Amino acid sequence: MPKPQNAMTIFQLLEKSNCRQCGEKTCMAFAGAVFMGHRPLSECPRLDRYIIEAHSDTFQNLDGVEQNRDDCLEHLKSLIKDIDLQAATVRTGGRCENDRLIIKVMGKDFAITRNGSISTDIHINPWVTAPFFNYVLYGKGIDPTGHWRSFRELTGGRERYPLFQKRCEEQMKQVADSYTELFDDVVQMFSGKQVDPQFQSDISVVFYPLPKLPIMACYWLPEEGMQSSLNVFFDQTADKNLDIGSIFSLGAGLAQMFTRVALRHGFRVVS
Ligand code: SF4
Repeated sequence: MPKPQNAMTIFQLLEKSNCRQCGEKTCMAFAGAVFMGHRPLSECPRLDRYIIEAHSDTFQNLDGVEQNRDDCLEHLKSLIKDIDLQAATVRTGGRCENDRLIIKVMGKDFAITRNGSISTDIHINPWVTAPFFNYVLYGKGIDPTGHWRSFRELTGGRERYPLFQKRCEEQMKQVADSYTELFDDVVQMFSGKQVDPQFQSDISVVFYPLPKLPIMACYWLPEEGMQSSLNVFFDQTADKNLDIGSIFSLGAGLAQMFTRVALRHGFRVVS
């Protein structure tokens, strides 16, 4: 089956009821998110399984969107050659060396060349690549203010919050519940920092997936019949420096990374 040429092809598969159960305001918005590679088709709960299966070779990967994501990345890459490298260096909080823009991603150097190639000392995670390009191309470069906001308070975050909660906050909480040294270990591995506990949490840690896009995870330990909880916060400038789809990807990617660290340390994450 040929891959979709535009979001309308995906929209035609949907119920078109705009029921919002997927967290998007409309079926068209959901179709756009699938086309851009931000959402898998299977996340429309109203879609029959047989339709998803029938399109499994159109959207081929775990989440059914790898091909679309590759196309989007190629497009973003092609735009890099036109950027003003010096201005981008200032805007992104990076540095310029040998005609390459170098940006710290989780404390590690990510270098990008004029032709859009990325080189780094660490494995390039797909969840960071598209946000990285969007940050370089479209970020406003506003310095963080230290005023924290939840995902749902960011522009466009409210509709996506149920899914963000599931993919990011719940997943991180499950890891933290199973693996108590998680925060010490990930802080060391990824140049994060423990900060004074915020919002009356027991543990607060801040990471920098991108220089001007800090993410803070706050964890509340279980106590007297109350379950543990975990919330993730962003600086109030986050939605100026990155689009909400990319912010979603960073949060969900961070949760995946925490899960992998726990598994590497032999912890089974109980969900
Ligand atoms: S859940 Fe499906 S039918 Fe409902 S708004 Fe989302 S895409 Fe449309």
